[in-house]
Amino acid sequence: MTDQTEPTLSKRTNAAKVRKAAQHPKRPGLGCKAEPATFVPVVDRNKCEAKGDCVEVCPYDVFDVAPISDADFRALSFLGKMRVRFHGMKTAYTPKSDRCLACGLCVVACPERAINLVEVSAGNMTVR
Ligand code: SF4
Ligand code: SF4
Repeated sequence: MTDQTEPTLSKRTNAAKVRKAAQHPKRPGLGCKAEPATFVPVVDRNKCEAKGDCVEVCPYDVFDVAPISDADFRALSFLGKMRVRFHGMKTAYTPKSDRCLACGLCVVACPERAINLVEVSAGNMTVR
């Protein structure tokens, strides 16, 4: 049986980081068995330091690190603004969140604990 957490789909994954995240005892999610678009990763931009570990572990290319939008920057706390300025005015976005299969790798790979995996069902959002 193929382990779908292996970096076979995305060309941006770092195999060592994927392996480390896959072994994390607190890895949440459904081990890539979710239906697409039933889970989404939610980034707390006040914590994000834009170094891209999420990009390097997601098998499905959900994340991009990109310049933060004016609206997202304005929504940050004072400390969040300081942090984003310090890290080049960038943050993690999830432009392909509809590809998420809830492997949970991004949650445990994020050094800032800035990512929650959220189940979207019948209009409700549940953090896993
Ligand atoms: S791993 Fe976490 S802190 Fe790093 S870019 Fe992704 S969301 Fe931001
Ligand atoms: S939980 Fe979703 S967004 Fe996070 S690494 Fe897995 S597939 Fe990518």
